[in-house]
Amino acid sequence: MDLPVLEDLRPVAGKRVLVRCDFNVPISNGVITDDLRIRLPIETLTWLLDEGAAKLTVCSHLGRPKGKPDPKYSIAPVRKHLEGLLRARGAHISQVELLENLRYNAGEEANDPDFVKSLVENQDLYVDDAFGAAHRAHASIVGPPKFLPSAAGRVLAREVEVLDGLLQKPERPFVAVLGGAKVSDKLGVIDALLEKVDTLLVGGGMCFTFLAAEGHNPGGSLLEHEFVENCKRLLASARASGKRIVLPTDIVALSPDGVFGTGKEPAGEWREMGQDLPDGWLGLDIGPGTAAAFADEISTAATVFWNGPMGVFEDPRFAAGTRTVAEAVASTKAFTVVGGGDSASALESFGLAGKVDHLSTGGGASLEFIEKGDLPGLVALREAASRRDS
Ligand code: AMP
Repeated sequence: MDLPVLEDLRPVAGKRVLVRCDFNVPISNGVITDDLRIRLPIETLTWLLDEGAAKLTVCSHLGRPKGKPDPKYSIAPVRKHLEGLLRARGAHISQVELLENLRYNAGEEANDPDFVKSLVENQDLYVDDAFGAAHRAHASIVGPPKFLPSAAGRVLAREVEVLDGLLQKPERPFVAVLGGAKVSDKLGVIDALLEKVDTLLVGGGMCFTFLAAEGHNPGGSLLEHEFVENCKRLLASARASGKRIVLPTDIVALSPDGVFGTGKEPAGEWREMGQDLPDGWLGLDIGPGTAAAFADEISTAATVFWNGPMGVFEDPRFAAGTRTVAEAVASTKAFTVVGGGDSASALESFGLAGKVDHLSTGGGASLEFIEKGDLPGLVALREAASRRDS
């Protein structure tokens, strides 16, 4: 994909640059619990400063403050952390300003032209390094490229290069592992992946709609009745094209009176079962047989894409399946790409985050890129480049 990159903006010396980052980090009691999204774009910011940029106006969203100021979503902890990281790299932080949370203004999500104008006012260049927000047609993403010479920062460019490579020329066998809560969120991605992969391993809450499509009883598990037909169709189309969709053969389930989830006192009995669960029992993890089979598939693959936990991994009783898959992804010789969100937190919680080839900073964005092959933020940058060239 022909995205304009930082070098295309030269000369940068003396210019004022608006930089969109994705600093949407988890913050608990004012403490940033995972700073990856702040660390990665430092490379972009220091490149711009080293090139002699006069001023960097950095901006990001943080959480969902609903279009008005809300101290809960203040960018202040990010600002402090960013300044520390920049200082450690010897940067002059007086040249760097971080704007308050973009979503304090309703114009951001509404892509309001007046809000775009306020962002680009007095700026000379625009750099988009916010892969995690590139699937949103929001003001700070799609607006500035209409007015300023624009380019992708290092983080965005690398994400697109890896994902594009994965779709265009994957080494085979290509195995995708999908989990997470709902199948309805991922139908488009499954469709797109089935065209590219050799094998699709399905775990998480979404496996129960597939199991129901094969005539099994999911008990009280997460089941989306209205999507059973879609799953039937996907299973049939995979069969017709010689692809494999592999479903769990065993499940770890919690008794109907059980309690699970974060912040709750765990209760109930949990057991390993087959593909059919008794009424009311909740399937909350893939069983050990399935986890071992998935690990085997991963270990013999040449390319692996993983998105979504295999169970409710936040509850230690239902984390084993996700842990086995995470360990298999971390130790395989295959080229491994993990698509952000909960799979990234799972890897982090098992201490395996550094053991994959590419850990995407955008869960939703990586899935949408796989599904559609493009994102609004990337289209905006390419359009800006072609206007500049013509
Ligand atoms: P997603 O955002 O779709 O990737 O979903 C992630 C969430 O799915 C995690 O918070 C998991 O707890 C949840 N999840 C995974 N497996 C199950 C399951 N079997 N039943 C209910 N929720 C699940």
